[in-house]
Amino acid sequence: MNQLPIYNPATGELITEVPADDAASVAAKSQQARAAQAHWATVPLAERKACITRFRAAIVAELDALAATMTRETGKPIKMSRNELNGLLGRIDFFLAEVDSSTATQTVFNDGGMTEQIEHIPLGVVANISAWNYPWFVGGNVFIPALLTGNAVLYKPSEYATMTGLAIARLLHAAGVPQDVFVPLIGGAAVGAALLEQRIDGLFFTGSYATGAKLAQAMGQRLVKLQLELGGKDPTYVCDDADPQTAAESLADGAMYNTGQSCCSVERIYVHEKIYDAFVAAFVATVKTFEVGDPMLDSTYIGAITRAPQLDVLDAQVADAQARGATLLVGGHRLAGPGNGYAPTVFANVNHGMELMREESFGPIIGIQKVASDAEAVRLMNDTRYGLTAGVFTPDEARAKALLAQVNAGSVYWNCCDRVSPRLPWSGYGDSGMGLTLSTYGIQTFTRPKAWHLRQV
Ligand code: NAD
Repeated sequence: MNQLPIYNPATGELITEVPADDAASVAAKSQQARAAQAHWATVPLAERKACITRFRAAIVAELDALAATMTRETGKPIKMSRNELNGLLGRIDFFLAEVDSSTATQTVFNDGGMTEQIEHIPLGVVANISAWNYPWFVGGNVFIPALLTGNAVLYKPSEYATMTGLAIARLLHAAGVPQDVFVPLIGGAAVGAALLEQRIDGLFFTGSYATGAKLAQAMGQRLVKLQLELGGKDPTYVCDDADPQTAAESLADGAMYNTGQSCCSVERIYVHEKIYDAFVAAFVATVKTFEVGDPMLDSTYIGAITRAPQLDVLDAQVADAQARGATLLVGGHRLAGPGNGYAPTVFANVNHGMELMREESFGPIIGIQKVASDAEAVRLMNDTRYGLTAGVFTPDEARAKALLAQVNAGSVYWNCCDRVSPRLPWSGYGDSGMGLTLSTYGIQTFTRPKAWHLRQV
C-alpha cells in the first residue's frame, strides 16, 4: 500500500506516514458504501441523531488532543484550533435541532380526496472532497447533515489535514456510524480524481477555484449534483463616518486570523480618503501586536503557511505590488528558520492593476486602497470574478444596507467580517462557487424532493 507522509509546516519535520488509498481501494470502498447506504437510510432519524450526539461528546472529551493534532499538521495556532472545535459544537447543535423539521414530509395540499406531499429522501452516496484550512468546519458542514439525512459519505480529507480526517472517522465510527457509511479516503489529488470515477449521487467540494473548475469539467457529462465552495477576494469598505481604530482592529483580525488562510479572510480593504491615514496607522499598529511563532503556543497569533507552494504566491504578489508602486508598511518577506513562515504584510497605495488586489492571497498579507466616494468603493468591490463575502463599516445602518445591496457576494457584513453562522446559508457567487452549506437549506441540500400525488378512491 502507498504511504502518505505528513509534515509539520511549522518545523518542516516529518510527523508520520499513513497508509494511503489507491484507485483499487477507492473503487472497493465506494462499492461497500453503496451497499451500506440503503440500510443507513432506514435507520430511524432519532438513532442517526444519537450517533452524531455521541460524536459531539467525543469531540468535547478529546478537544485538546484533537486541537493539537490539527495544529501539528496544518500550522494553525493552537488557540484557533480550539476555537474551531468549539465552534463546530454549535454547528452540530444547529443540525441536530433543525434536521427533523427540515426533512419532515410536508403536506402541501389536501382537498377533495387529493393529497399532495413533499418527501425528502437522501441523495444516496455522496463524495466530500475537503480543504485543510478549517478541516472540522468545512468537512462538518457536509458530512454531519449528509449522515443525518441518511446518506453514505466518501470523505477525502485534504492531504494536509489527513490526521484530522482519520480522527473524524475514528470518532464517527466509535459513535455508531457504520464503517462503510462514513468512509475516509486517504491521499492527494490522485485519490480525489479516483473518487470522481465512482458511482456517486452528489459531489461536495471545498477548495480552490482551480481544482473546483477541474472537478466541474470532469463531472460535466455525469449529471451528478455538484456543490463547489471555492476561494474569494473578499472586500471591505470603511466609510468616512466609521471609527478608524475600531474598524482597523476588526479588519486586521479579519485579514490575518488563521494566518490569513480563511476562505472568508478580508483580502481587500477600501477606506474613504477622509479617514484613510488614521485607519492605516491603526491597522499597522494592530498588526504589529500580532505574535508570530510556534503554533503550539497559546500566545501565537500568526502560525505557519500550511502549503509550502503558497509562499511563492505571496512572494510574487509582494514583488508585483512593489514593482507597481505600492507602499510596503510592514512585513513583505518569508521568515527565517525551518517551516513555512511569512511575516504579516501590509501594503498601502495599492490599485487593481496589482495581483494583490485581484487574486486570492491566502496568507497574512493585505492591501489598503484609498477611495473618494461610496460609488467608487462599490465599483471596486464588484471588480472581481469572486463573490464570497463583502463588508461595510459605518455607524449608519441604512447606508451600509444600501451599499451592500449593490455588492455581488453570497454573505454581507455590516461592522463585522470573517464570520460564518450555522443559521445562515454559506454560498459563493461567481467563481467563489455554486450550491450552499449551512442553514436549513444546507440540510435539505443532502436530500432530493419526491413529489407525492395521492388520490383517495
Ligand atoms: P485545493 O483545491 O488544492 O484542494 C482541495 C481538495 O481537492 C484536496 O482534498 C485535494 O486533495 C483535492 N484535489 C486536488 N486536485 C484534485 C483533483 N484533480 N481531483 C480531485 N480532487 C483533487 O484547495 P486547498 O488548498 O485544500 O484549500 C484552499 C482553498 O479552499 C482556498 O482557495 C480557499 O478559499 C478555499 N476554501 C473555500 C471555502 C468555502 O467555504 N468557500 C472554505 C475553505 C476553503
